[in-house]
Amino acid sequence: MTLNLQKLAAAKLWLISPPVGATAPASPRDLPYLSPALYALIPVPNEEVPTMSCDESWRIYVNPAWLDTASIPEIGAELAHVCWHLIQEHAGRARDIGVDRSTVEAWTTATDVTIAHTLRPEDACPARLPAALSEGLRPGRSAEEYFATISGLPTEAVEGALAGATGGCGSGADGLRRTYDHSPDADLGAVDKFEAQEIRRIVAIEFRDHVTQRGTDPGDALRWVADTLEHETPWEPILTAAVRRAIGWAAGRGDFTYQRPSRRASSAPGIVLPGQHRPIPRVSIVIDTSGSVDDELLGRALGEIDGVITALGIPGANLTVYSVDAAVHTTQNLRNAKDAKLVGAGGTDLRIGLRAIEGQRPRPDVVIVFTDGDTPWPLTAPPGAVTVIALLGRKGDTFLPTPAWAVTVQCLLSPR
Ligand SMILES: [Zn+2]
Repeated sequence: MTLNLQKLAAAKLWLISPPVGATAPASPRDLPYLSPALYALIPVPNEEVPTMSCDESWRIYVNPAWLDTASIPEIGAELAHVCWHLIQEHAGRARDIGVDRSTVEAWTTATDVTIAHTLRPEDACPARLPAALSEGLRPGRSAEEYFATISGLPTEAVEGALAGATGGCGSGADGLRRTYDHSPDADLGAVDKFEAQEIRRIVAIEFRDHVTQRGTDPGDALRWVADTLEHETPWEPILTAAVRRAIGWAAGRGDFTYQRPSRRASSAPGIVLPGQHRPIPRVSIVIDTSGSVDDELLGRALGEIDGVITALGIPGANLTVYSVDAAVHTTQNLRNAKDAKLVGAGGTDLRIGLRAIEGQRPRPDVVIVFTDGDTPWPLTAPPGAVTVIALLGRKGDTFLPTPAWAVTVQCLLSPR
């Protein structure tokens, strides 16, 4: 059976869109902070799960028959629920405290209680999720704390733990592999741990704003925000993940959730996937060569990009490098961006470089800009291209704002 992807898409929109006009019970939930997580999910039809479960590679296993009959709010609630298991890293946390098949039910209850605390006030929570009070627990505590309490209780339910192989919320919630789980490198796409970390970071920032605006009590979720944002992630994997995603979107051209090319296919140039008209995206790199850009950092950042471009099988003919300060100095087709001859050192105006790209034919699908950010920007994105800005500087530097039409990754060296 195939999945009704349109219904899944509608449920995602129901979660993130603002309500229209008067707020009815089924009107959209206005939770845009969930978008980065929702649109990373990879749906897989599965008739063993009653509704929806998740694995650690962000596949969601969805029962097609359930999807056909469920209402949009029911589907939305299930989607929000698996997103919270994944962004809060419940699988890794379960491993950290030694959850096994005999205690997994307590862990499922513990994590579901924390999720219900966050989602129930938003009216976006699966009805079956337990509330703290109904379980005799104090509201607003961590999943680990609940787990310690629940697993210490005598319970006859432990016998039925995991309800065979299909129960619970999936290995994405407890780290215990299900028989139906696809392997992480299965040919259907996967969110790797660096991408997952980046999604968590973005959701954490947006969720913090959401909570401030709504004035809701997020309970344990706010501790998760603090933990997530406190841990400094190295910029290299974030930059490569952003570029990999941009190239993936460009190759998929459309709803990347459903048409994401598999990594294996995209690393084999020349193989055309079904429905994919542009198998090998064109990439343009704009390098700000004004004097203020740090050469060492630029070299490292370019090296990271070369790694991704090689891994994805983008041939040199599809790669154009512009070196730009207040003028476009060189345009080169290169096998490696690192080999670009960099000319310039004047002031910076990247609008000139980006305008040169607009004149390029065929047009690039992905534009990657390396700059210290000390430049004016065009008002709109290069037409038809996904743009990533690698902002180069030192920790503690302040940067001018970068345009909202681009994905910006800060690549920072320690202060001198
Ligand atoms: Zn759950």
